[in-house]
Parts: sequence; structure tokens; C-alpha cells
Amino acid sequence: MKPISSWGRLSQHNHQIIPLHDRNSIPNIIHHIKNHLGIAHGMGRSYGDVALNPEGTLWLTTGLNHLISFDESSGRLRCESGVLLRDIQKLFIPRGWILPVTPGTQMITVGGAIANDIHGKNHHLLGSFGDHIQQIRLARTDGTEIACGPIQNSEWFTATVGGLGLTGFIVEAEIQLRPIHGPWLNTETIPYSNLSEFFQLADSSEKDWEHTVSWIDCMSNKGQGIFMRANPSKELNQTPKMKPEKKMPFVPPFSLVNSLTLRPFNFTYYGLQKYNAGPGIVHYEPFFYPLDKLLEWNRMYGPKGFYQYQSVVPRNVGQDATHAMLKEIEKSGEGSFLAVLKTFGNRESLGMLSFPEPGVTLALDFPNHEARTHKLMNRLDAIVKEAKGRIYPAKDARMPRELFEAGYPKLNEFLKYRDVGISSALSRRLLGS
Ligand SMILES: Cc1cc2nc3c(=O)[nH]c(=O)nc-3n(C[C@H](O)[C@H](O)[C@H](O)COP(=O)(O)OP(=O)(O)OC[C@H]3O[C@@H](n4cnc5c(N)ncnc54)[C@H](O)[C@@H]3O)c2cc1C
Repeated sequence: MKPISSWGRLSQHNHQIIPLHDRNSIPNIIHHIKNHLGIAHGMGRSYGDVALNPEGTLWLTTGLNHLISFDESSGRLRCESGVLLRDIQKLFIPRGWILPVTPGTQMITVGGAIANDIHGKNHHLLGSFGDHIQQIRLARTDGTEIACGPIQNSEWFTATVGGLGLTGFIVEAEIQLRPIHGPWLNTETIPYSNLSEFFQLADSSEKDWEHTVSWIDCMSNKGQGIFMRANPSKELNQTPKMKPEKKMPFVPPFSLVNSLTLRPFNFTYYGLQKYNAGPGIVHYEPFFYPLDKLLEWNRMYGPKGFYQYQSVVPRNVGQDATHAMLKEIEKSGEGSFLAVLKTFGNRESLGMLSFPEPGVTLALDFPNHEARTHKLMNRLDAIVKEAKGRIYPAKDARMPRELFEAGYPKLNEFLKYRDVGISSALSRRLLGS
């Protein structure tokens, strides 16, 4: 037994860890034994409890890190589920192929990306990760194996993409990569002073810009922020200005993100970005993965950890709901250090439990002040519920079951594909088993 916590570091629980290395031995290892339930665990970059199984088993996938085949002409990559997105990017971008969708960190596994059907900054153009998967090999704890994809056994595919690891163990997957000239992006940074400017920028950028995202200053009730957009560049001969990775060296005794630091941080960041506004040529790593340079940055929230709260609400109520959430945050005095506001495109996700839906998504980090933080998140829940939105399970550690049920109308259909030998802290909290 080993203590494991998730990225939010909210709690630590003992787990029996089973590291996996040989993909052919997986059916034997995960084979269901009564009362010994397990769940796959990739890089543990999910913030809440989706990849945890306190007092139970974690099948650790990071040893399943082999590429199986690559077709140079079509860009189809077949690999094991523990391969890191970082390794795919590093190997294939110099060969002219890139992952079509990546999240705000590349330190995650292919299995984790499928199970949470992760999204990037280009949802309006390319949807989410599952839209680019051609096939999954799924091992079930009853010893059966299912090959599924958009056409073959498609009901298993749509249950497994975004299926929170609960339909079986993803052994390997085939991903359609996207052609690319090189590692550079043409970018533009634009300050905005309120939410309606943000929505204008988001709407007008969708047609001509592949990537859009914004940072919003939660400490100013006006909704000011910084909008960033980017397109792949044909530029080849830039020299990357790479800063060395740094590491948060220890867990401070209290959160470094607090009422004293939040306001000056947001104020300074806004001022600095405003000063640096305009066009640029940026390497894909700092643009896509700005936080990866500070390893273990999650430690800065101190011993109690932090919550991430990511919601999506439909576009027609997006501005009002976002405004209402910002007001609640301001009223609570809690504030968020890393607040990201972006729009999702007008396309439904294929996964039965996938998070993205047409609308606007707001992601917030809150230091864990226990009852105070819960009170604020309960208020945010009420706004999300009224707006008919949903919360992202990959980031969640506390959403009420009724909000989950209301946000995911295909839940009952999904339950038919659950694997009875698999359970997580999240599934017990939100599904009862
Ligand atoms: C800094 C940061 C930025 C982020 N930005 C984004 C973002 O922009 N967009 C976004 O969508 N997400 C984002 N995330 C969340 C992250 O992308 C997801 O939580 C992702 O799923 C983590 O992958 P992982 O390999 O760490 O998997 P884990 O967290 O270990 O597991 C996640 C889920 O995948 C399941 N799983 C893993 N491997 C398998 C397998 N082989 N078979 C079956 N199930 C499996 C687990 O059981 C669990 O349910 C971010 C996270 C961080 C820390």
C-alpha cells in the first residue's frame, strides 16, 4: 500500500499499486476478483478523484509506453495507453505531424486523454481528443477484449471516450495525427476590458484562428483579461528561447495563493501582458503548456491543496452566467489565481460522458479553505445548474450527484457499458459504486 493523492493534493489515501509493463499480460492482471476493484491511473494529472481508488488497486499505466506502429503517409499512430503526449509531440513534430488536440499540460497519457476526452484551445475547429481516435483496444475485467472505434462497436467507443476509465482498461489506441510545418505558432495577444469584449473577440476569432484562449482577472469585477489566439506558422528557422524547467522545491506550510498575493498577482499579470500585447512567433510548448515549466506547481497551494472548478454553460446564457460567477467569486473574497475563459465550438462531443458542449467554459483554481470554499462552489453550482451547464469530472472532487446527473443526460445509457470490476473514488461518489 502506498499513499497517493491527485493533482489537487486535497487528500492522500493508501492504494495498492500495480505497475503495468507488458500489454499482453493486462487481461490476466486486471481480471476481476470479487471485492478487489481497480482503476487505471496514468500521470495523475486529474485534479480530483477520478483516478483514485482509496484502499483499492491502481493499475499504473506509465510503463505501457511503447509506440506500436506509424504510417508516414496517413499520419496514423498506434501506441500503448501509457505513452505521454509530450513524447508524441517531441518525436513527431520534427517529422511533420502533431497531436490534433492537446490540453494545458503535455504531461498526460494517451489513456488519460481518452478517458477524460480532453479538450484543447482549438475545440471550435477540431473538437476533443476522442474525435481523432480511430481505434481503441479495450480489456475488460471479465477477460474479454473489445476493439472499438467510430464505426466498429461504436457504442463501446462512445462509452469509453470520456468514460472516466469505467468501461474497461484501454490497452492501446490508434490516433490520427495532423500535418504541421514545424513547432512555431503565429500568435496575437489582445487585452480585453470586459466580458462583452471577450465574446466579440472569441466569436470573431473562430473563423481565422485555430487556437483561442483567455486568462481572466477574477479579482476585477469588470471581467478584464487577456485574449490569446494562434495559428500554426510556416516559420522554420526561429531559435526557441527555452527556459529551463524549474521545480516548486517544497510544500509551503500555507498556501502561497492567498488574499494578500492574489490581487497583486492578477494586477501585475494583466499589466505585463497588456504591455506585451500584439503579434508574435511563439514555440508550441510555452503557448500550449505554460505551466509545465514549473514542475510540481501544485505544491504552492500548501498542505491543504486546492480545488479546480471547471464548468461549461450554453453560449446563449454564457455572458450572464460568467458574469454571475465572477460576482460570486468577488463577493466571497476567495479569488482564483489561474482563471481560464474560453469558448467551445458549435459541435457535440461523441462521448456519452464527454465534458465539452457548445458554450463557454470557465476554469478556476481555489485554495482549499474548506467550508468557505465549499460555500462558494455551491453558489457556483447553482449558477451552472440554472444555466443548464455541467462540471468537468476530470477536475472535480466534490460536485453533488444531482448536478452530475442533470449535466450528463446520457448517463443512464453509459451505465450499460460499465465494467463491474472497476471503481474509483469518483464513481462511488457520483454513481454509488
Ligand atoms: C496543468 C494542467 C492543465 C490541464 N489542462 C487541461 C485542458 O486544457 N483540457 C483538458 O481537457 N484537461 C486539462 N487538464 C486535465 C488533464 O488533461 C486530464 O485530467 C487528463 O485526463 C490527465 O491524464 P493522466 O494521464 O494524468 O490520467 P489520470 O489523471 O491518471 O487519469 C484520468 C482518467 O483516465 C483514466 N485512465 C487513464 N489511463 C487509462 C487506461 N489505460 N484505460 C482506461 N482508463 C484510463 C483514469 O482511470 C482516470 O479516470 C489539465 C491538467 C493539468 C494538471
